[in-house]
Amino acid sequence: MDPASLPIRAHAKEILEAVRGSSVVVVIGDAGSGKTTQIPQILAKAGYGDDGKIVVTQPRRLAAISAARRVSEEMGVRLGAEVGYAVRFEEDTSSKTVIKYVTDGLLLRECLADTELSQYSVVMLDEAHERSLNTDILFGVLKSLVNSRKQALKLLITSATLDGKKFSEYFMNCPILNVPGVCFPVEIIHTMEDHVSNYMQAAMDVVLDLHVNQPPGDILVFLTGQAEIQKAVELLNKAVADLPEDTCDALQVLPLYAALPMEQQSLVFSPTPEGCRRCVVATNIAETSITVNNVVYVVDPGTVKQKSYNPLTGMGSLEVVTISHVQAKQRAGRAGRTQPGKCYRLYTKKFHDKEMADITLPEIQRTSLTSAVLYLKTLPLAIDVLRFDYLDAPKMEALEDALRQLYVLGAIDIDGKITTLGEQMAQLPVEPSLARALIASMECRCLDEMVIVAAMLSAENIFEDTGGPPDRDAAGRSRGKSEQEDNAVTRLAREGLGDHVLLLRIYQEWERAGFAPGWCRRGGLSVRSMRRARDIHKQLKANVRDLRRRVAGRDETRRSEKGSKKRGRHSDAPHEHSCEERGRSLDAQSALRKAVCVGFANRLAHRMAAHNGYRPLAPGAPLSQLHPSSARVSADSDGLLPEWIVYHECFGLSRPFLRQVCPVDDEWVQPLLPKMRNIEVKRLSGGASEPAGSACPKPAVSSGGADGALPQPALPA
Ligand code: ADP
Ligand code: MG
Repeated sequence: MDPASLPIRAHAKEILEAVRGSSVVVVIGDAGSGKTTQIPQILAKAGYGDDGKIVVTQPRRLAAISAARRVSEEMGVRLGAEVGYAVRFEEDTSSKTVIKYVTDGLLLRECLADTELSQYSVVMLDEAHERSLNTDILFGVLKSLVNSRKQALKLLITSATLDGKKFSEYFMNCPILNVPGVCFPVEIIHTMEDHVSNYMQAAMDVVLDLHVNQPPGDILVFLTGQAEIQKAVELLNKAVADLPEDTCDALQVLPLYAALPMEQQSLVFSPTPEGCRRCVVATNIAETSITVNNVVYVVDPGTVKQKSYNPLTGMGSLEVVTISHVQAKQRAGRAGRTQPGKCYRLYTKKFHDKEMADITLPEIQRTSLTSAVLYLKTLPLAIDVLRFDYLDAPKMEALEDALRQLYVLGAIDIDGKITTLGEQMAQLPVEPSLARALIASMECRCLDEMVIVAAMLSAENIFEDTGGPPDRDAAGRSRGKSEQEDNAVTRLAREGLGDHVLLLRIYQEWERAGFAPGWCRRGGLSVRSMRRARDIHKQLKANVRDLRRRVAGRDETRRSEKGSKKRGRHSDAPHEHSCEERGRSLDAQSALRKAVCVGFANRLAHRMAAHNGYRPLAPGAPLSQLHPSSARVSADSDGLLPEWIVYHECFGLSRPFLRQVCPVDDEWVQPLLPKMRNIEVKRLSGGASEPAGSACPKPAVSSGGADGALPQPALPA
């Protein structure tokens, strides 16, 4: 599509006028109208990038990279020059950069180093309707920043649909611009069946029927995730190949999901081959963030995969759930961008009207808030996290859960004030527990090892197909096929020291094999993910080095300030040699487990021998089993599993499981336990230390229940 003909272009003048007259502007325009790619160019052309960069946030890293790539092409410049991007662990910008696409998480991080965001003249918070946790936090942070930087900072909020009024009220009654998109009528066809038992099969049937019987026009099918999409692509290709010759045109089937390599992802933007129909099978990424052109038929099973977290039990889940009316409308709208279209909904009209929610719950109301709360606590204004100016306030229980975890990790003190340790944790670009483990590893003298483990954990999907290491588990169940295959990875997996040590050993062996791709393939590892782990490793090492240098610099200043009085006193800062006199030195793997133990103290679980399971120490946590995708944890000579483990994730629906586990020693656990008793969450919220006239005038939620004390975890005597 020619960028000049996009609806946003026709409204360039209005947009510029609104931005000139107000420091905050909300722009609402249909998906595909050109918000992400055109607005920054319009602003840059009008000179808004002259005194500072224009930064545009995206909730997904791939959307940020893809938008930067597209805009650099449109402007005819090299990616990384005038147009660049920065996402976690990856950046391509230069001193020439005027338009910079970033993830919302990255902009939050930049705010820590430069609270005024002084390198930017315009901030555009894009895809605001998605209401990602990070974008929601940015709303509050930028609202106060716009007020303090006055006219020097322009803020644009761009969104695909709906509630402009709510945003405008929140942002000091700012102007709202509505940019209508091109929208042809879309006929909605609901199924008559009350219960579609297998939505994937049903979707495939509709696609085939459509392909054989309907006039030309591309198809867009919404499924829930990578595995499902790959399977669907395979099934469709096979089904089309099985059709009698000459029944219909060829069908080009393309997958589209966030983890797809960039080259494959951009195929959906290429013109459909002559005499061929295209069918794109996508996740909800195609709902608003990536626009597939020329779609005439949409197949909508009405489902989406959604992460949620229960703060009362500490359990997370990744479930296929029913979409909301807003999403259903967005999906249907995708069929009418170039001509009248049709949307086949695999649910009844009655289901749509009676069972579906109106809007999707914002992420802030269904996720763990540990990182977000640590972030807010780190901002220079001592923010009372219970009264931060949220667009929609999170649940009280979720805030309390986050505060309790941060206290256990030592990131905040008993009065809820951020500690030196907490500040250091916030500076590392990983979740709080992993950051704590990295800092602990400096003391345990296994930093190199821990950085490898953190990189491997951050790379995700290391194990091809199975989602977990081969050969498992304590109960003797094995994964069948992989047991016979004797390769380096299966041999390592049998050592039985849990996931962290296994990840470390895998990386070290791969390094020893000269980072050979063949080594990964033979071991059933994803070459792409392993390479990503190597890139992250390099980046993280630099982050840790920076942190150390800053800490060392500060210690130096302090020491000279305090003069001779306190000479010889130990600093509380991480330091490579600070635990030399800490008793017998541990071997590298035990040291690593110890650092992991300290880092994941908020996710400790105690063996319940009688139930062959573990009970996490979090209040309200259920008795759980080790998940089959966790690495083997060896039993002792009595056949008992280790008494203590730490885990990354407690998840599940009916049956709770612990995933990514590491056995830890009793002597490391005991010192951690006293801290977990008698936590007074009301003190932790930090309300008491809030300075008068802080940036958060609106009491978004009341300050808590009865006495503010949390239910206590069941601690072993
Ligand atoms: P919005 O943000 O309003 O949803 P975008 O600015 O993302 O719209 O997209 C505007 C148009 O540019 C759409 O028609 C889309 O298909 C097209 N487009 C976006 N990215 C690319 C790309 N990487 N390659 C080709 N076309 C693209
Ligand atoms: Mg967009």
